[in-house]
Amino acid sequence: MVGRLPEYLDIRKVFLQQKEISGVIDLANLTRLKGVLSDNIGKTQIDLVFSLNDAKQRLIRGSIRARLNVLCQRCLESLEISIEDEFSLVVVDSEESATKLDDSLDPWVCVDHKLGLAGLVEEQLILCVPIVNYHQDPKCVESLGYDPASSEELIDEKVQNPFAVLQKLKT
Ligand SMILES: [Zn+2]
Repeated sequence: MVGRLPEYLDIRKVFLQQKEISGVIDLANLTRLKGVLSDNIGKTQIDLVFSLNDAKQRLIRGSIRARLNVLCQRCLESLEISIEDEFSLVVVDSEESATKLDDSLDPWVCVDHKLGLAGLVEEQLILCVPIVNYHQDPKCVESLGYDPASSEELIDEKVQNPFAVLQKLKT
């Protein structure tokens, strides 16, 4: 059974111990993600592996799986999307150290010894969620009793109008 992730990890221990942890995080706890989602129902499954590399950098390798409800940009109804991603981060203690990292490495700034997992998971999820989402079925608008043909005509008129104005100016 998969348990709940701890809120914080002690970074003085987890890398030395080469910890591997798995668990779930409630979406309701991820406050920054709220603006992206249509509701906070659902959970995120996450696996993390902590290690030190040859350069004594503190590495977090992780994978994340989530089902999230976002808004369809066409019909504005809720839409479920699946997210699966893997990431690799190097924990640094300041923004300054972050800028010194090799470009191939993604920094995660942790100023004290407490690594907050919700923030880390949230950031990875935000990076994964597409900016615009649509239902697979292009007819999703019809379920709202919306006539897509007439709305297209309206758009056409708007597009043509500026040219009609230009045409008048020329003559
Ligand atoms: Zn839709």
